[in-house]
Amino acid sequence: MHAKALGVMGGTFDPIHFGHLRLAEEARQALRLSQVRIIPAGRPPHRAQPCSSAEDRLAMARLALADLPQFALDDHEVRAELPSYTVPTLERLRGELDEDCPLVLVLGVDAFLGLPSWHRWREIFALAHVAVATRPGYTLNAAQLDEALRGEFERRACALSALPGQGAGGAITSFAMTPLAISATAIRALLARGESPRFLLPDAVLDYIHHHHLYEN
Ligand code: ATP
Repeated sequence: MHAKALGVMGGTFDPIHFGHLRLAEEARQALRLSQVRIIPAGRPPHRAQPCSSAEDRLAMARLALADLPQFALDDHEVRAELPSYTVPTLERLRGELDEDCPLVLVLGVDAFLGLPSWHRWREIFALAHVAVATRPGYTLNAAQLDEALRGEFERRACALSALPGQGAGGAITSFAMTPLAISATAIRALLARGESPRFLLPDAVLDYIHHHHLYEN
């Protein structure tokens, strides 16, 4: 891989948790990324609207990523106040990079399965590679993919070890990460019941949640 391959990880981060952080860290190592940009969605178009405000989600991500130079928080989608679409974000990042610098969109397998519902999703491959991480509860089985996605997957699938020879984008690879059955949904449910999600997310994020009374019923 080009020495400066950049990783991109979007999500609602409602709230950010150790599943996200571990995904970013393991992707960085497996794909030899120089950095992973963490990009909270402002108004995600293809899913239910977040429970907490964009400002709170950004503040929690900032706390989780403090003093971690291998990750960079990118607030463009939050600041845009428009629905957050991945393709314009990748176009923006492409414009910042050398033409031959690989961009790698990092997704958990659940997000990858939903790719065909994303705006202009097929254009992603002209801009970036896609790296799909395992996630408990979901399997990446080509036979079960939506037909259009299966076509792209079969055409573009590439072993992790072969990714460095694939240029700046266009390949789909997958990697196994430490299984962590952590989700923001489950964390919100614990908080709504008055139970503790401690050790599923950074303490600083949990302190912020309590201080701002987020996710309480
Ligand atoms: P929610 O439960 O609200 O849907 P989430 O926990 O799935 O949220 P998102 O912000 O939707 O978190 O996810 C952002 C990205 O992180 C997605 O690509 C998702 O697949 C991935 N991801 C989140 N949690 C994990 C996990 N525990 N293991 C692997 N990937 C994860």
